[in-house]
Amino acid sequence: MKKEERGHAESERVQSGLASDLLNWYDETKRNLPWRASHDPYHIWVSEIMLQQTRVDQGIGFYLKFIERFPDVKRLAAASEQEVLALWQGLGYYSRALNLHQSARIIAESHNGCFPEKAADWIQLPGVGVYTASAISSIAFGDPQAAVDGNVLRVIARLTCESAPISDAKVRRSITERAQSLISTTRPGDFNQAMMELGALVCTPKRPKCEVCPISHYCRSKVLDQVHLYPIIQPKVPPREEMMWYILYFNKNGLYVQQRGSSSIWRKMWAFKSVSEEAYKALLQAEMLVAHATPSPELERRMEHRLTHRLLRIYLLPFQCGVGFTDDSLTFVTYKELNNYPFPVVFTKYLKEIGLWEG
Ligand code: SF4
Repeated sequence: MKKEERGHAESERVQSGLASDLLNWYDETKRNLPWRASHDPYHIWVSEIMLQQTRVDQGIGFYLKFIERFPDVKRLAAASEQEVLALWQGLGYYSRALNLHQSARIIAESHNGCFPEKAADWIQLPGVGVYTASAISSIAFGDPQAAVDGNVLRVIARLTCESAPISDAKVRRSITERAQSLISTTRPGDFNQAMMELGALVCTPKRPKCEVCPISHYCRSKVLDQVHLYPIIQPKVPPREEMMWYILYFNKNGLYVQQRGSSSIWRKMWAFKSVSEEAYKALLQAEMLVAHATPSPELERRMEHRLTHRLLRIYLLPFQCGVGFTDDSLTFVTYKELNNYPFPVVFTKYLKEIGLWEG
């Protein structure tokens, strides 16, 4: 056998050995998660979208509630946006819910309720990126596409001693190619889940448990005793600060709310009246008066809300309204009805803090 052929045979042996050791470990130790009991693409799709920016332990309760209320894609497609957003309340990143809903309508109307089977078709749906498309198509339909999330990036960077930062797009592409070369073609969905499970439970960001790792003998950084050096992480850019000003009009029965536009942050959700900084200051200093409404300065608050790349500083000024108060841009909602109006979590937190949330 020539040298080149020997090298090729050796790398094939490593690949199939790694996949089989990983799958044996997965079969023995995998966590019992509700969506893993199912091969229904609807269940797998909902769980993958929910877990995009949510921890598994936090997602389980939301997932079970969601599946109970919308047990299949047709029921989800028939729901209103408000119902879907209301159920998503507390999970954050609400565009995921709107995209899920919009995709359900596309699948129900244009695909007669049938799900795509290939990653290349999943990716056409709103809110489905390369990772999600590969995860769903491999788990639900056995499409042999490597799904590379943050966990898998870390595992492969350590396995191969990747010397460039894993946030770099080129490095991500080359790690995805490496994952693709390792994937089990007979059990691609389990292989992808096993890699993610390994990253979540064993090859963790801090203090990886190499002593119990099923693929440690294939791991270059372990063999070289350099695990602590990988993955290479680029220092984080500080979040961009953004200020927002809101006026809360309320009375003893309820409060006035405003639906947010479809291009704004928290699109299609509900909030208080959004105003400019100038208008806020004029109202705060009583330079501007509102007919039939009195400021409640004791309930004025500043809140902070952290998103992935943004830090929101939110200024809230409440006014108690009397009979005769009107504002055509607002909708009156009683405290009892508030639960049906999806609010960003920072506003419900504020309402709870000032004792105006009954939900
Ligand atoms: S041996 Fe350690 S560093 Fe390497 S893959 Fe396993 S847990 Fe990660």
